[in-house]
Amino acid sequence: MVSRVIPVESFDLVIFGGTGDLARRKILPGLFRRYRAGQMGAEARIIGAARSEMESAAYREFVRAAVDEFHPATAGDAAHIDGFLARIEYVTLDARGETGWSDLAALLRDDVVRAFYFSVGPALFGDLAERLHTHQIASPDCRIVVEKPFGRDMQTARALNRTLAQHFEETQIYRIDHYLGKETVQNLMAIRFGNMLFEPLWNSQYVDHIQITVAEQVGVGGRGDYYDRAGAMRDMLQNHMMQLLCLIAMEPPAKFAPDAVRDEKLKVIRALDPVAREDVVRGQYEGTGDKNSDRIEVGNRDSTTESFVAMRARISNWRWAATPFYLRTGKRLRDRASEIAVVFKDAPHSIFGAKSGHHRNILTIKLQPNEGIELGVTIKEPGPGGMRLVDVPLDMTFAEALGPEEADFPDAYERLIMDVIRGNQTLFMRGDEVEAAWGWVDPIIAEWSETGEPPLPYATGSSGPDDALMLMHRDGRRWREIRA
Ligand code: NAD
Repeated sequence: MVSRVIPVESFDLVIFGGTGDLARRKILPGLFRRYRAGQMGAEARIIGAARSEMESAAYREFVRAAVDEFHPATAGDAAHIDGFLARIEYVTLDARGETGWSDLAALLRDDVVRAFYFSVGPALFGDLAERLHTHQIASPDCRIVVEKPFGRDMQTARALNRTLAQHFEETQIYRIDHYLGKETVQNLMAIRFGNMLFEPLWNSQYVDHIQITVAEQVGVGGRGDYYDRAGAMRDMLQNHMMQLLCLIAMEPPAKFAPDAVRDEKLKVIRALDPVAREDVVRGQYEGTGDKNSDRIEVGNRDSTTESFVAMRARISNWRWAATPFYLRTGKRLRDRASEIAVVFKDAPHSIFGAKSGHHRNILTIKLQPNEGIELGVTIKEPGPGGMRLVDVPLDMTFAEALGPEEADFPDAYERLIMDVIRGNQTLFMRGDEVEAAWGWVDPIIAEWSETGEPPLPYATGSSGPDDALMLMHRDGRRWREIRA
């Protein structure tokens, strides 16, 4: 199949926090892959900016090491790396002071797209926004990319939106949620809105319920300080999982364009019912003896931060009024696996009799560890001996049909960064969306702190607290077995 990579000719991309963990693990290796794919034109440039004192030459070696470590090498990479590094510069700069800003201003060119990736803690967003203006670095059509966490409740998200709005138009602000950059998440939209087959069935009449699971095996690791202030609700549910829920539940937008898509997502959030207390389960993993590696003590009695949350959500609109959405996410669970399962209703009558068993169609959108989409269909078990039914998965990823080149999907970050350069906000969250999402989870978090009830303990390597199983069982349903 012919490659459809369209080069983006000229841009200056500044990565504030260019020496940080995110830049090293995701942004820089992702950019290398785009370079290698031929997507960076001759005039593309990447400028790392951070507090560390460093020359550009040393930063290039830092970038080389990051690419070596986090980009699984493929044949031909060595030939590309020097070309990539030739586009890299570095500026020592202080977001909170005046050091380095004139050096950055001197490096930037006038006639190219300017993008500024704020890969620093959110406390610095306001400083960066302000200095980009006072030093006249922000051009009228420049873009800024901001990382999560975007606030820790509606009030702080609103304050952050206001701060950014003092210096930038909404059309210049790219709030990143890397889940939206996943190939399969976009494929979900293609499958929903590019086919006649699914949309007529995509409602309460045919869909029994929907499960969204993001299960991790790891604990909080080195992010303990941040995680203890966030917890699973703020770290995962308010952003990534709610975004997935929106894409599954939204009405078809009139076109695949930024505000058309984001308007529909916002309508879903606004149609979510407040969550009843009995519809949420909050858990915390019990220690395994290696807690020292977690820095903070999630998992011991000093912390009341949840590392697991499960809930039943309801969307009060015509399409979904009778279809519950079950969401669960947690750390130190048995498997690492993330998926969305659309569980269709039973056929109204089985002509094959009771012995043929219980069968349901399930559309599974797998996000981790391997991306893919499967439709479970019921067929006759081959062979003689009567009509025995069996469920088999139809693989809808079509990697083979599309060829190996197409199956080498870009990582979410690389796709999203290129969207920033192209000026396409469709896969980025709008300010009102983020605030509305906080507006939905804030009362749940507030109730936890009012009651002071600690999270329920669960064993490392389990599927979470038993109460999370009960959340489904009491509705006559069960969580799907999650297998990596
Ligand atoms: P980090 O602590 O590893 O890096 C922070 C970077 O900011 C460093 O380059 C540091 O030099 C720079 N910096 C700090 N203070 C500065 C100042 N005053 N002036 C200029 N530069 C300064 O952080 P990180 O893990 O790379 O995270 C960056 C952002 O991305 C955070 O908002 C984080 O929440 C978010 N994020 C990170 C991850 C991840 O996997 N690391 C995932 C999702 C979101």
